[in-house]
Amino acid sequence: MIPYLTKALGNLFRAPATEKFPKGEPPKAAPGYRGRIIYHPETCVNCGMCMRVCAPQCMERTMEPLPNGDQKITLTFDLTSCTFCSMCADFCARKSIELSDDYMIVGTQPEDFLVSGTFIKKAPPPKLTPEQIAELKAKAEAAKAAKAAAEKADG
Ligand code: SF4
Ligand code: SF4
Repeated sequence: MIPYLTKALGNLFRAPATEKFPKGEPPKAAPGYRGRIIYHPETCVNCGMCMRVCAPQCMERTMEPLPNGDQKITLTFDLTSCTFCSMCADFCARKSIELSDDYMIVGTQPEDFLVSGTFIKKAPPPKLTPEQIAELKAKAEAAKAAKAAAEKADG
């Protein structure tokens, strides 16, 4: 009991082991620091690879069909379960995910820890009917014949 008491009393007069957070600009993170995720939906192709490699499964994807056949895709990262391992970024062939050097991930609401992005996935073009295919073929043949004739006339 006595040694603990001595230690406790000694700690009362010791300087704190932690450093005070400085006023003004926060210090820069060390090179290679893996902080807040940045998602670039404009380059994402919705391959789902990032979701497959995320061990804590902290990503959620919603796919909302639109009246014109397109799809509204939203990918959301929940930083409260993210371990900042960078696997999602490393496996993204499109470089749509990066881990920034922002280490000040603080908030008071669950939404403060969500990183989300949305993009529109275009619907594939409608299939051509056999008649349309035949028409296109005929046009291509006619163009080819016209070109051959022109070349022949030129000598
Ligand atoms: S962020 Fe990258 S890995 Fe994830 S779905 Fe988009 S393209 Fe695929
Ligand atoms: S950094 Fe790791 S834990 Fe966080 S979303 Fe990416 S794969 Fe998941």
